[in-house]
Amino acid sequence: SRQIRLAARPEGKPGPEHFRFEDEVLPAPADGQVVLQNLYLSLDPYMRGRMNATKSYSPPVEIGAVMEGGSVSRVLESKDPGFAVGDIVLSHTGWQTHAVADAAGLRKLDPKLAPVSTALGVLGMPGFTAYTGLLTLGQPKPGETVVVAAATGPVGSAVGQIARIKGARAVGIAGGAKKCAFLRDELGFDAAIDHRAPDFAEQLKAACPDGIDVYFENVGGAVWDAVFPLLNTFARVPVCGLISQYNGAGASGAESVPGLMRQVLTRSLTIRGFIQREFADQRPAFLRDMADWIAKGELRYREDIVEGLENMPHAFAGLLEGRNFGKLVIKLAD
Ligand code: NDP
Repeated sequence: SRQIRLAARPEGKPGPEHFRFEDEVLPAPADGQVVLQNLYLSLDPYMRGRMNATKSYSPPVEIGAVMEGGSVSRVLESKDPGFAVGDIVLSHTGWQTHAVADAAGLRKLDPKLAPVSTALGVLGMPGFTAYTGLLTLGQPKPGETVVVAAATGPVGSAVGQIARIKGARAVGIAGGAKKCAFLRDELGFDAAIDHRAPDFAEQLKAACPDGIDVYFENVGGAVWDAVFPLLNTFARVPVCGLISQYNGAGASGAESVPGLMRQVLTRSLTIRGFIQREFADQRPAFLRDMADWIAKGELRYREDIVEGLENMPHAFAGLLEGRNFGKLVIKLAD
């Protein structure tokens, strides 16, 4: 197996010096294990956190270990009665071309139902994050205004479209004119604002004449600063991610906390962080609803597919800077 291992912990942006390519001869599978060939590898913002030494909600990747991540794989050899050679599965083998995995951790995919790469995006963890965070915590009502940033990514694009399915207005925030046009013209967002525009805060205010009822927080930083004054009484803020801070920049100063708390009180705000796996019991409902919305054409998705393991570190750095346009996936084989 050709692998990418963590070579050093980055201080800021991850670069080639933080990764090491290595070839490993795989061990023979034991009973209850399978040999996998990875077809698609997922790249997700959380992986930046795993490169740090500090334990967040999950332990860090050790120096020298294979980088962690989800994958879609083909079974090449099976020592488990539940899986046959040729089966396509969702796995969590990390940044490598092949792996030996416990069958217990795998889920079989049906290539006839949907392109298998979607198990890493709209029908996988990011889609599930959008569905649970928005519906369970955001609770959008018809006519309300829902705002989401990183809006062309797998989480944000689903958040905005599900908000519209529920009868709310969706306002998306994204980097650049191309992404904003995509939100309006392809995904049906009611408005799209470029967070790099010099008058971003004014544009956002104009796009939300009735204020903001649900802000699905993906980025933090300057976007949060522009959103915060527009939150209505009883607004809900599911805190999903803070990608503007993942490379170490702009951790907010403690002096802003008392001001925030005063507004939480006077505007009766609900600000609630979550990690998608806490809603695991909603997975069947998610798969049913999402597949239904996609089939009806009510929900669209976009993938950004980069070929080759060697391009993975560069693509990952780009994910943290907005170079991706859609769910970022590394393709290794058909
Ligand atoms: P995306 O594919 O949307 O990629 C991240 C995007 O963030 C970039 O493309 C860029 O888009 C945007 N971005 C980066 N830096 C900034 C910045 N400083 N200001 C504004 N936007 C920025 O990622 P995902 O959809 O996979 O993830 C979105 C968020 O959801 C992340 O914060 C992630 O950590 C979080 N998440 C949380 C989970 C949970 O369980 N809590 C589970 C899964 C994801 P642009 O060009 O538009 O600026």
